[in-house]
Amino acid sequence: MKGALDLPTFPNGVHPGENKERTERLPLERMPFVSRYSIPVGQHIGAPAKPVVEKGQHLRRGDVIAEPGGFVSIAYHSPVTGTVEEIGQRRGPNGQFALTIDITADPYSAQRFVAGSAMDVDSMTQQEFVARVQQSGMVGLGGAAFPSHVKYAVPEDKPVEHFVLNGCECEPYLTCDHRVMVEHADAVVRGTAIVAEKIGAKATHIGVEANKMDAVDALRSAAAGGAIGVQALTVKYPQGAEKMLIKAMFGLEVPAGKLPLDIGMIVNNTGTMASIADYFDRGLPLIERVVTVSGPAIRRPANLITPIGTPIRAVLEHCGGLHEDTREVVMGGPMMGVTIADIDAPVLKGTSGILAFTENETAWPKEYTCIRCARCLEACSLFLNPSRLGKLSRAARHGEALDYHVMDCMECGACSYACPSAIPLVHLIRISKQANREQAARGKGA
Ligand code: SF4
Ligand code: SF4
Repeated sequence: MKGALDLPTFPNGVHPGENKERTERLPLERMPFVSRYSIPVGQHIGAPAKPVVEKGQHLRRGDVIAEPGGFVSIAYHSPVTGTVEEIGQRRGPNGQFALTIDITADPYSAQRFVAGSAMDVDSMTQQEFVARVQQSGMVGLGGAAFPSHVKYAVPEDKPVEHFVLNGCECEPYLTCDHRVMVEHADAVVRGTAIVAEKIGAKATHIGVEANKMDAVDALRSAAAGGAIGVQALTVKYPQGAEKMLIKAMFGLEVPAGKLPLDIGMIVNNTGTMASIADYFDRGLPLIERVVTVSGPAIRRPANLITPIGTPIRAVLEHCGGLHEDTREVVMGGPMMGVTIADIDAPVLKGTSGILAFTENETAWPKEYTCIRCARCLEACSLFLNPSRLGKLSRAARHGEALDYHVMDCMECGACSYACPSAIPLVHLIRISKQANREQAARGKGA
């Protein structure tokens, strides 16, 4: 399917205001080091990692502080040179308590990372490569924080036809991937080439939305002469969702309940590729990431290279603090991000953005009855019936919602965005999904 400018895209979806102009041209800058860091050891999808340090232990920047707690788990590393202050339960950005390692930074340290020599990736077996990526603490940096090595452990009977790099960054406000692609295009291409070779991909492509043509140009230039294709895509939400990106670039459907690998594809985020290159070329594990700090309530927006574990409060202060009329601070993008319950909680590996909003943007409009306009159906890229799902949820007919494939909903929020009656469709759908999960768990327990 082709969209505006005759560029590829997927069917349906929405186009919320991009609001990227505040930060899209701001070069990456470093967040200054602060005195204290908190690293929850379950930031990723999967089993929490196991702490391997003790209170009072001195650490250098990049030292391992927690080992993977299983295959679907990763290592964690100290973001600073300092001392373990405490290991215990701390509140995370979502308000939930989690096992966390607190580290006090050494006030006299220059916090320089002592780079190692480049690893000989070529001579590694695929298994060794997967183990190394797990040890690097790498997760997808797009927000979901899925351990990268799990995707690279490709079974022999599932060859990878296409390795697809996701440079869409389709959420409004966010520009962290954009700046990495522009300023570190070489590293993105280098990381991509490393992974593509190790997973045996037959072809490699990078998809970037057309509101980032400077990133398209930078990547094309960095990839010149290589085997990586860079494709500009129509700007549309939620094109950054794996299945939508595949549909946009190849016209192929990933069936419900299946993974991209089931149709020969692996999708990764472009920022992750730059971090992979950093790890294999100089031994830098995932101890920092780029965070877009933006939104109408932020005084000085920025794209900040931020150590994992930095208190969100310190990031906000570095950006000039919040306006007095701030009503909400969100982690991630405005469509799929979560409201931050405690700004003393830390920046996580999946923190692509810290956005602050005033009452103007957060006041929920008055809700009206459904006028059966079908805009929510036209918005849903999975061809679900959000209006029907919303009504079933309100009537607590959650079992019936299964017949309408409620569990396939990726909670992108496009339907809620499109609804002129301001019906909170995605919230209602989440309630139904949760009720069905609980029902399934009760069934297993019986
Ligand atoms: S939130 Fe779910 S139902 Fe609504 S548009 Fe996204 S995928 Fe479709
Ligand atoms: S968009 Fe809103 S008003 Fe229109 S059919 Fe869907 S739920 Fe009803």
